[in-house]
Amino acid sequence: MSNILVIGGGFAGVWAAAGAIRARQEAGAAEDAVTVTLIGAADDLAIRPRLYEDDPQGKRVALDRVLGPIGVRRIPGIVTGIDTEARTVSAVGRDGSALELSYDRLILASGSRVLTPPVEGADHLFDVDTLPAAAALESHVSRLGTVTGGDERFTAVVIGAGFTGLEVVTELPTRLRAVAGDRPVRVVLVERADTVGPALGPGPRPEILAALEHAGVELALNVSLQSVDRERAVLSDGTVIPTRTVVWTAGMRASALTELIPGTRDAIGRLEVDEHLRVVGVDGVYAAGDTAAAVAEGGHVVMQSCQHAVPQGKLAGANVGADVLGLPLVPFAPNPYVTCLSLGPYGAVLTTGWDRTVAQTGDEAKKLKHTINSEWIYPPIDDAGAILTLADHRTTWPTETVQSVSA
Ligand SMILES: Cc1cc2nc3c(=O)[nH]c(=O)nc-3n(C[C@H](O)[C@H](O)[C@H](O)COP(=O)(O)OP(=O)(O)OC[C@H]3O[C@@H](n4cnc5c(N)ncnc54)[C@H](O)[C@@H]3O)c2cc1C
Repeated sequence: MSNILVIGGGFAGVWAAAGAIRARQEAGAAEDAVTVTLIGAADDLAIRPRLYEDDPQGKRVALDRVLGPIGVRRIPGIVTGIDTEARTVSAVGRDGSALELSYDRLILASGSRVLTPPVEGADHLFDVDTLPAAAALESHVSRLGTVTGGDERFTAVVIGAGFTGLEVVTELPTRLRAVAGDRPVRVVLVERADTVGPALGPGPRPEILAALEHAGVELALNVSLQSVDRERAVLSDGTVIPTRTVVWTAGMRASALTELIPGTRDAIGRLEVDEHLRVVGVDGVYAAGDTAAAVAEGGHVVMQSCQHAVPQGKLAGANVGADVLGLPLVPFAPNPYVTCLSLGPYGAVLTTGWDRTVAQTGDEAKKLKHTINSEWIYPPIDDAGAILTLADHRTTWPTETVQSVSA
């Protein structure tokens, strides 16, 4: 019997577990020949790409409704140690008990976290990285109309004009107006580069700038956040912005568990993996999703995105299953890269390729983003057949559908 252990119940971990069960099924192996266990801190799959939207608390799927029907054992717990020599993982269980789990093959899918910036007063910052953090921001904004204070209550500052910052900053004016009534609303986007979306390239920039203007967002470029407290944000050029709401979105880093694996890591902490998603130089360990610096499409290192976490999860699961059953492994080959960036009431922008050529804009792209967010990124629930059908690594949803939409 071989025991596969997956760490992390995010997009990569869920699909890795399902991919491994599918591999066992495809090989015609007995159920007890390969067992799959997933340990994760949360009981739900957090739909992280939706956390800039309203009602972040509702953006989740119970893991038991996906893993239960396909026979994956789930252990709620926080992993604290990984011993790749002894092939054991230590963890703290939900009841506080110490757990020691052994494995034949490990898939590390513990994701990523937004960086906590080294600025004075950082504990006053909001973010939309996790369900609780996004819920805390929503609840804070909803109370702004009833707390005492002046119009500065309806000023928000978003730090970072990357993918997440842009999605958040184009939503905030509507949310603030809903609580401000007739009082003035101000939203400022702070970016240390000299332009918005510096990593998104020039292609989508005209759409992004038009959306920011449409939303009435002020730009503060070439500056960073210096300090923050309950009543103000201070920028590196000395500008003081009276505000109760500063949202940090800049910088992601792979889960700290990557540091417990004796492999090579990139600048954001992701482990180097080979074409089969095995951690280079570490026997029996695979990585998938935001923990893995996988290479795709002729040398591009994947993005920390669902679009890459899902196919990596499926493939890591398939390969780990093949590995323990003595079958050939398959190289990672996701569908062509696309991005769909929400731009608030203005619409959205769909780009294709690593140079981000604009393929759709406005309402058309917004409809696509809505379909991606409300349908395509959700795993099926309560239906083993549907879950295992979608766990096939050859079905590299959703990009193939997006490609055909944009063709
Ligand atoms: C606001 C926002 C918008 C985004 N928009 C998009 C988008 O439009 N398109 C896109 O493709 N991507 C988007 N992303 C990125 C995408 O959400 C991530 O790339 C994706 O969630 C990565 O999946 P993952 O499974 O690797 O990691 P995660 O989703 O981070 O899951 C990791 C899991 O591991 C668990 N875990 C971590 N540490 C431990 C531990 N020590 N013990 C036990 N469990 C642990 C966590 O609780 C979590 O459940 C967005 C992200 C955010 C925050």
